[in-house]
Amino acid sequence: MDTELRELYQQVILDHNKSPRNFKKLENANHTAEGYNPLCGDKINLYLVIEDNVVKDVSFQGSGCAISKASASLMSSIVKGKTKEEAEQIFVKFHDLVTGKLTDEAAIEELGKLAVFAGVRDFPARVKCASLAWHTLISALKDEQNVVSTEE
Ligand code: ZN
Repeated sequence: MDTELRELYQQVILDHNKSPRNFKKLENANHTAEGYNPLCGDKINLYLVIEDNVVKDVSFQGSGCAISKASASLMSSIVKGKTKEEAEQIFVKFHDLVTGKLTDEAAIEELGKLAVFAGVRDFPARVKCASLAWHTLISALKDEQNVVSTEE
């Protein structure tokens, strides 16, 4: 990745960390989940309003490193208005991206802003920070009401 692109990506992550989108509790949430990454100390509470199989609203609260917070913020903006299936498909691609399985440039571009997390693949410990919000999302979609941990 060239330096200019890397700097742009860092700006997006810093911006979402400083001003996270949808950072609140949804009182009318009908799906919730809690995520925890003990390796870094990242915590997230996720709130979803799902109607007719569509994510009508999404919000989160929590604390953690810049990557985990920026990832939760971007995830919340992206899954809003998507069907459960669409959200799950984005998660699969995102997971392939951060674990280094998705290398096709065109496919990465399709991920839009999520492509900012491409650099994470070089830092295995950070993969968990970046994917925590998404694992929590999948749990909330299934309405398992469990605490998700990145460690088994
Ligand atoms: Zn973290």
